[in-house]
Amino acid sequence: MSQKKVGFISLGCPKALVDSERILTQLRTDGYEISPTYHDANVVVVNTCGFIDDAKRESLEAIGEAMAENGKVIVTGCMGNEAAKIRELYPDVLSVTGAHAYEEVVGAVHQFVPQEVIHNPLIDLVPPQGIKLTPRHYAYLKISEGCNHRCSFCIIPSLRGDLVSRPIGDVMDEAERLANAGVKELLVISQDTSAYGVDIKYRTGFWQGRPMKSNMKSLCEGLASLGIWVRLHYVYPYPHVDDIIPMMADGLILPYLDIPFQHGSPKILKSMKRPAHAENTLERIHKWRSICPDLTLRSTFIVGYPGETEEDFNILLDFLKEAQLDRVGCFQYSPVEGAKANELADQVPDEVKEERHARFMEVQAEISKQRLQDKIGKTVHVLIDEVDEEGAIGRTKADAPEIDGMVYLNGETELAPGDLVTAKIFQADEHDLWAEMTDFDDTL
Ligand code: SF4
Repeated sequence: MSQKKVGFISLGCPKALVDSERILTQLRTDGYEISPTYHDANVVVVNTCGFIDDAKRESLEAIGEAMAENGKVIVTGCMGNEAAKIRELYPDVLSVTGAHAYEEVVGAVHQFVPQEVIHNPLIDLVPPQGIKLTPRHYAYLKISEGCNHRCSFCIIPSLRGDLVSRPIGDVMDEAERLANAGVKELLVISQDTSAYGVDIKYRTGFWQGRPMKSNMKSLCEGLASLGIWVRLHYVYPYPHVDDIIPMMADGLILPYLDIPFQHGSPKILKSMKRPAHAENTLERIHKWRSICPDLTLRSTFIVGYPGETEEDFNILLDFLKEAQLDRVGCFQYSPVEGAKANELADQVPDEVKEERHARFMEVQAEISKQRLQDKIGKTVHVLIDEVDEEGAIGRTKADAPEIDGMVYLNGETELAPGDLVTAKIFQADEHDLWAEMTDFDDTL
């Protein structure tokens, strides 16, 4: 399956460029490829300018060219306020919106060039809700496409191909523009963030005229310099990840790692062909926590993978007890069409999968609950996501949007999404926290 491609023409002032950047970032996150030519694109977005007559003329010409060369055109930007004029000249444009309408533009791309959606919670980069577009104060930053691994339960490499890292200068430019546009938190995503740059041999790129290596450490250093929250998803426990932990301890990037471990039994991990399956992960976790005690670890696991014996499952439970992970998702193994694991012998019966899933959840729920209880009495930074009539709802540095827990600040109705405050935690359940705001905080 080839990825759907979107052509993009961006006209106008720096504000229009910010809109273009947000639209492109979201489209990339949603799995679209950006095409440099009309010919390859499945649809073309024209972000117009309507400032003066010359700009309007240029915008109309750009729409005309895109219609002639491609024929499937979505118009947005300031000139979009004159929709009637555009439609009079080009009645077949697919949609017309005004400035700062990036939600509508991305919606139109999804509508007219739908992606083949293969939802698999084990390997999806963003939660399904993420498709609905992120609020304006956080954004996903996709650093690469594809994957060099060949996990036996996964078909991503056959769909998306091998790893292709984006040039570091492009990633940093995008991150900088998002930060300048008011984004307070970047969520770094890829199929394997720790593999960034492997395919391009960690070549040196440039950002702001300075040389930068295309590797995970220098990417983190660059992102840390933007002064906003930086959260890493889909990291594997390779030795070079150790280099990132001191940056977390120093508060340069969020002390948070999302590592899809998938299992704790070496035999099953090997059968799954998981990245870093030969590493001593528990030892590594202990070492990381000794350097950065506030480190939050999130993970996902599969129970009932073919060949998983009761002994393997007990090794997994022991792993959980020792690893003391903060947030964990658990899925019962189910075959994905085309995956190698389907051919394995010893498929686990459904009732055994269910029973193991329940036992797993029982053990982990207790761990997660205890780890949240331990936060009571602490003062934390909270980034506000929503405000309603009852108060504000936000997240701490330990919580990624959509997948982790919330912090409820009851009564704080004057705050706005994107505000950063400090708050003292007074209550916790097994998922969420309740806290009292102590101060505004603009330090990030
Ligand atoms: S690391 Fe494994 S599970 Fe993740 S995309 Fe690559 S092959 Fe799939």
